[in-house]
Amino acid sequence: MTLPGPRPDLGLREGYHSPQVEVPVRLNTNESPLPPPPEWRARLAEEADRIEWNRYPDRQATELRRALARFHRVRPEQVFCANGSNEVLQSLCLAYGGPGRCVATFEPTYALHAHIAHLTATEVVEGRRRADFSLDLDEVRDVVAAREPVITFLCSPNNPTGLVDDPASVRAVLDAAPGLVVVDEAYGQFADWSALSLVDDSVPLVVTRTFSKTWSMAAARLGYLVGPAGVVANLERVALPYHLDSFKQVAGRVALEFVGQMEERVALIVRERQRILSAMGPLAVTAWPSQSNFILFRPETRKGDEVWTALLDQGVLVRDTSSWPGLAGCLRVTVGTPEENDAFLDALREAL
Ligand code: PMP
Repeated sequence: MTLPGPRPDLGLREGYHSPQVEVPVRLNTNESPLPPPPEWRARLAEEADRIEWNRYPDRQATELRRALARFHRVRPEQVFCANGSNEVLQSLCLAYGGPGRCVATFEPTYALHAHIAHLTATEVVEGRRRADFSLDLDEVRDVVAAREPVITFLCSPNNPTGLVDDPASVRAVLDAAPGLVVVDEAYGQFADWSALSLVDDSVPLVVTRTFSKTWSMAAARLGYLVGPAGVVANLERVALPYHLDSFKQVAGRVALEFVGQMEERVALIVRERQRILSAMGPLAVTAWPSQSNFILFRPETRKGDEVWTALLDQGVLVRDTSSWPGLAGCLRVTVGTPEENDAFLDALREAL
């Protein structure tokens, strides 16, 4: 007997995985190095005790969406939640993509935008960013005019470059793009500008966010978007019934009671990011000025993959991005605790 093969259009695309090696200093997946506040754990335990485990969860995630709406000063109908922002992106592709439709990405950018589009049988049209990784608006206009993508993906701060698309660029993309513009703001709180201020029911813009980074809750798998109520209604049509479990809904809602602590963590990471960038100044690397919780850099005297191995030999795991489009020789390091960042800087000096 032979097993059936998968859909032929899945091809041999590799997933987006970083090796999870057991090392003392893990700076490869842009997680928060700090746990959420202990008060959050206590409140979550209290609320979890009240969950009716024999019942399906609230399908509308009413209280969580209300809390997010208050936080962002929008209406609950303008908020869609899912299991991580990756699932939000997947819901967008399921609702708006599919055979005969395409999405546009501008490389280098977050690999999952193209990957998720492929998984939903949506064609991907790849534009390019400039050599300095800024958005090339002429390229954007050419790509969207030629191919009319149903979704144009931006990522701000962009993973893996850490650069932000400025308000004028996002407005220009909105003017040019015929379909939805999705601004992936998984790292939005680390930056000094957010596209959330442009969201309106009459504007074809959605902004995606996550609890995985700034909220120190990667284990919870919770993400959301803010956008026009009409878009949210379409996303609800593709979400599986009860896709968001009760515990997760409570975890997110309770997290929003601790905004101050979240902001303190973000401030620490931003300070540490600047400290790492300053320390890299005299080293033989090119580092890009990040507005996120990671830094892209290129060693100038040794190959990127050699430096990656030399760091690993010293117990420091970073992301090897050297084979990604437009990123030859580059590595990406997540900002960790002050001690982890010192370990990284010592190992980097040694490796170079
Ligand atoms: N968007 C970007 C740009 C990311 O870097 C990530 C995490 N790697 C995600 C979305 C997905 O985050 P999550 O599914 O954990 O919310």
